[in-house]
Order: sequence, then structure tokens, then C-alpha cells
Amino acid sequence: MVRKKGKPLRKPWMRTAILALGLLVLPGQAMAAKIVVDAGHGGRDPGAIGVNGLQEKTVNLDISRKLRDLLIQRGYEVTMTRDSDVYLTLKERVDFTKAQHADLFVSIHANSISSPGTRGAMVLYYDDAYPQSSYPASPEMRALTPQSRELATKVLNSLVQTAGLENRGIVPSAVYVVRMGNIPSILVETAFLSNPEDAALLASNQMRQIMAQGIASGIEAYLPPNIQFPDTRGHWAREAILRLNAQGVVEGVGKNFEPDRMLTRAEWMTLLGRIFDLPAAKPAGGACGDGSKDTVAGAVYRDGGCDAAQGAAAFRDVNAGHWAFADLDRAVKAGVLEGYPDGTLRPDQPVTRAEVAALFQRLAKLPLIELAPGSQRPFKDIPAGYWAEGEVAALKQAGWIDGVTAERFEPERSMTRAESAALIDRYIASRK
Ligand SMILES: [Zn+2]
Repeated sequence: MVRKKGKPLRKPWMRTAILALGLLVLPGQAMAAKIVVDAGHGGRDPGAIGVNGLQEKTVNLDISRKLRDLLIQRGYEVTMTRDSDVYLTLKERVDFTKAQHADLFVSIHANSISSPGTRGAMVLYYDDAYPQSSYPASPEMRALTPQSRELATKVLNSLVQTAGLENRGIVPSAVYVVRMGNIPSILVETAFLSNPEDAALLASNQMRQIMAQGIASGIEAYLPPNIQFPDTRGHWAREAILRLNAQGVVEGVGKNFEPDRMLTRAEWMTLLGRIFDLPAAKPAGGACGDGSKDTVAGAVYRDGGCDAAQGAAAFRDVNAGHWAFADLDRAVKAGVLEGYPDGTLRPDQPVTRAEVAALFQRLAKLPLIELAPGSQRPFKDIPAGYWAEGEVAALKQAGWIDGVTAERFEPERSMTRAESAALIDRYIASRK
């Protein structure tokens, strides 16, 4: 949706256009999912020492290299935090991972415990249902709990089945590398170096290869290598996003979609320009409206005023280098988008859900719904007399938009990219 590659497709619901597009390389085409493989310990930190003398850092690196090779064979892009016997702090591992813009983080370890009879595989992940107050997690990892838990489950199941290991379960954990990142993250404890049988398995090159295969298959079960927009995996709006992307209406940001990021005014204008015929440009010398454009609502919603004829270039915070300049210019000239009294257009500022609803109602020429005073309101948080109540009610009745819950619309909250995609998807479906 953000960076445009080539000319946007107009009238995307036209069947001929959709058929033709099937043959073209589309913006947002699937790119290989990227995995960070982290071999635990290294250098002056040997990790656990096995009952057979095996050092954990050596086992971890070998399984990690095998895992990397298998993942590359299966079509993934892979980077390793270390590919030699070097020491890295935990923070260095997480910082490295953040710089990779990867999709998953998988740390490889071998376990050790004082009781030699304990054996088997387990997978650690951060779970916000079991927080440890002295080890707070990053906000991203807190929100990614369901994804990390599912990744942990799939990798563990695949590992124990493939390698015939005892299943010790997935384990909520506050270890740094699964707690401080910003992508789904797990730490695999392959087997126990403190157990003679497990230590013998870990000493076997063949068994390490089998373990790597099990881990690779678990990763693939969670995230196939060529999934489109991997960050929409499991997202409620994924189907709508993929449909719109195939129709050329929305684009990703790099290979991701960033579904829960706030939609900016520029992004919204670009989308509207693709699905609606904007009104013809206002003639020069138009009136400057009623001078009350001091609200965000007024700034996106009122009919074109004195700014319109000059276009987007009239605003001091927009220049022709802005990625959406052409769409912004068209929207300003059409009177669909207005600036603020301080001479700014604020193209990168988020739009609220009420602003989106209001503008959409208008461009779709959907009749406003007049709500009689004292009548039942569709949403409890939109009071009588709210500036966009008729617009929100109209979109709700058309089935194009939902509340955040059955009773709440949250009109003043910024709209996310996923929410805007859902709205457009329903609108297009209703026109077929
Ligand atoms: Zn370890």
C-alpha cells in the first residue's frame, strides 16, 4: 500500500483487468521468508558440558548450520547470528536480529540439569500470560505471544516426531532472546547433555542432521517459505488484504504488509484514488469555506476551499518528492483533501476511523442515515450530534464497516491499514 511500483490500477474490479493481472508480476509478490538462526553460546562461553565431554556451543553451531542449509534448500532466506566459535552477548543477538528485518528467530541450544535421568526436547518462548516482573518483555514480544506459542508448538512437535525424542513440552520463559525481540521467537532445547542417552544422540552427526530436519519442518509448518505478506499470517484481515493486493489496490511495505500500523492520510488518499473517480478539479479562485477548518475532521472532509486550485504543492510540508504527491495533488484539487490552518497538509499523519468513514460515505455516494434524536444508536461511543454519526451509520448499514466491538466504533482512534483494507474489500464485493 505504501510505496507505489508503477502505475496504480484503476477500476480494479473489472474482470478483464483481473484476468490480465494474473500473468503479470504484481507489487507485493511473495518473497522468501527470512529466518534468523541463533547458535547459542560460543567463544569463551561453552554452554553446558555433556556427560560425554561434548560442549554445548559446538553442538549448537553444528545443528544451526545444518538447519540453515536445510532452510535455504526449502526456499528460505537465512542469516545466522554466529557462524563460527565466537562470543556474542544476548543483546547483540537480538540487536542483530532486529537489523535483519526477518520473520522468525530460532535459537538452538542443548539442555543440562542436575538429575541425569531427565531427557528430551523442549521449546522456550515468551508468554504474556506468565510475565516475570523483574524481566519485562518488549511490547512487540508481548503482542506476539500467540505467534511465538504456535511456532514453539509446531517446531517441538516436528522435532520430537522426526528425531524420536521425549516431548518435554513448550515452556513459557523470560530468557532474553525470546523476550526482547520484535518477531516471533523461540529457543529450542534439543536434548539433555546431562543425560547419557541424549548426550550420545547429540554426539551423532546423523542425529544432529535429523534434529535439524525436524526443526526445519516445524518452521515450515508455521511459516511456508514463500508466503505472501508473512506478517499477516493468522491476521483477521489477511484474506481481504491478499484479495486487494491481487487486484492491485493495496501494496505491501517491502515484503510485509504492516496490517496493524496506522493508515496515513497519504496512504488513504492513494487508496481512494484507486477505487473512486474523484470529483473534477475545482476551478481556481474558489471560496475559502467558512474559516472553521481547525479540526482534523474539517481538514479531510469539507468541500474544497481556497487551497484546492493550487494543489498539494501549496502546503509547506509537502513537496513533489513525496511518494504520494500525485495522489495528494489530485485529492486536493478535487476538494477531497484539505489542509490545516497552519498551512500544512500533514500527509504522514494518521487518519481516524470517523474521518475514513465520512470520506468513504461521500465518495461512494452512499445516502447518509439521519438518526432521530433519542433513537437507538448503532454504537454506544458515538453520541447524538457527533459530526460523523450519519456517515458511520450509513457504512454500518451497508455492511462495509464494523465496530471494534458490537457496541463500540472508536471513532477517534486511528484506522489501521488492515481496517482500511477490510472496508475497501467489502465495498468492492458489494459492487459485484
Ligand atoms: Zn544453552
